[in-house]
Amino acid sequence: MPFAFYDRLSAPRQRTYARSDSIVELALPEGPDPRPAAQAISQALQSEREAPVQQACQVLLDDLAARFRVPRLRARVYAVRPSGDWGELHGMYFPLEDGAAARIELWMRTAMRARVVAPRTFLRTLVHEFCHHLDYEHFGLPETFHTEGFYKRESHLLNQIAGPPQPRRRPSVQSGADTTDTGTRGASAHSNS
Ligand SMILES: [Zn+2]
Repeated sequence: MPFAFYDRLSAPRQRTYARSDSIVELALPEGPDPRPAAQAISQALQSEREAPVQQACQVLLDDLAARFRVPRLRARVYAVRPSGDWGELHGMYFPLEDGAAARIELWMRTAMRARVVAPRTFLRTLVHEFCHHLDYEHFGLPETFHTEGFYKRESHLLNQIAGPPQPRRRPSVQSGADTTDTGTRGASAHSNS
């Protein structure tokens, strides 16, 4: 736990953080086999075009929203990740607000070489942003934090959707830095946290 960050939170926000950290599993509710929808996203990425990827993401998100009985979200897929000295943005979640549907924005090309992102990395980002949606709409949390519990349930859900991770053949070059963004309810600014 990032203690300095935690210490600065108000008592109610600390309680939200602790609750988020305590939920480490996320069982996929009953439904059809989710792997074809995940594979359709992988195949769409091979087309290297945003529209088919966005359509495939929408199918999976509709399925997930129905299973968890949460409001639907819209998928938006763009080409090259925004980047800066802070890193590069993989995805972004905008909560449901003022009657507008929640949405997830995803980028399918790396900032450095504009290469199409690896399918599992892309799927993890989609699941990550969906987990922010679940924090609000399924768990009823007033705020969504990147706790250890959050990342555990992200991995748990990803493995049920896409199958267990393949053993790595070479060391990962991905940085451990957080590279997703979350819109905060009631605020127009989006932090890079
Ligand atoms: Zn996030």
